[in-house]
Amino acid sequence: MRRKSFSASLFTPHPSLFTGCAYCILPRVADHYDMQEILSRVKAAFIGLAVGDALGAPVEFLTAHEIKAKYGRLEEIVGGGWLRLKAGQVTDDTEMSLCVARAIVAAGGWDLQGIAGRFAAWLKTKPIDVGDTCRKGIRNYMLKGELETPFNQWDAGNGAVMRLLPVALFTMGDDALLEKYAVAQAHLTHNHPLSDAACVYFGRLVHLAVLGFSKARMRRELEGLITEYPNFRFDPYRGLSTGYVVDTMQTVFHYFFKARDFEECLVGTVNQGGDADTTGAIAGALAGAYYGMENIPKRWIRKMDRKVMEDVVTLAERLITMSPTGMKGR
Ligand SMILES: [Mg+2]
Repeated sequence: MRRKSFSASLFTPHPSLFTGCAYCILPRVADHYDMQEILSRVKAAFIGLAVGDALGAPVEFLTAHEIKAKYGRLEEIVGGGWLRLKAGQVTDDTEMSLCVARAIVAAGGWDLQGIAGRFAAWLKTKPIDVGDTCRKGIRNYMLKGELETPFNQWDAGNGAVMRLLPVALFTMGDDALLEKYAVAQAHLTHNHPLSDAACVYFGRLVHLAVLGFSKARMRRELEGLITEYPNFRFDPYRGLSTGYVVDTMQTVFHYFFKARDFEECLVGTVNQGGDADTTGAIAGALAGAYYGMENIPKRWIRKMDRKVMEDVVTLAERLITMSPTGMKGR
């Protein structure tokens, strides 16, 4: 994708637009964006999430050293792993994201109850993989009808941010809306400031990437996160990629900013091991949003479950159409 020329030729923000919120300016400048490029990035973000999940899941819980011994460098979607997956099969990261997306699309707008209901229906299908915190939160909803799980110091896992992408797409162009809905959806299962911060800032990066901003601008955005929560500092990279949301986001940030394309970002991320399906899914969403469709390796897309690919593309288009970007009717 010709990001440089795109940014230079199609978007020249007026400095006054950046006062207050950094970029909630879309309704006024939507005509300056190339909507086809935005659509490409939006679809690539959701496809990237599923691809990263499928690429990383076979090496979930392995260390980087174990992956090296077994695969050399994992560069293909191979299936297997502790879940004995078919090549291209996705896990809870993609499935829960689909629940969020379908609930919003079905309701024609924000519907937290609908999201919780779809999580509950999904849990009843006995999915191959569910995080403990997600299971606990969903059961809390099923038993008590509560849409917010109580604060818990152990809830700083990555289960809320792994399914945040549809919220980022639906709120594209409105930072306040992103913050409100990102935290609301997170609190269905995870109620912890570090998880909340990861969700909001991951959403902001997705917004910036989809709208064509540079990596330097995205990196600057993260300064806010690191100032507030220095734990998220990722340079120097500590090489941890557990399910703790701080480790997860450090891994995603490190490989996203270091890599030169989608494949390099994803391969680096999943070969770190640990919670590799989730780091892969989050990195895939971010790299997809940044690089667009043509940068996702075709050989990976061919391996994916076709129905999942069709669903994520359709839902991504619907979500961006419903967002405040002013794309309605285009
Ligand atoms: Mg998973």
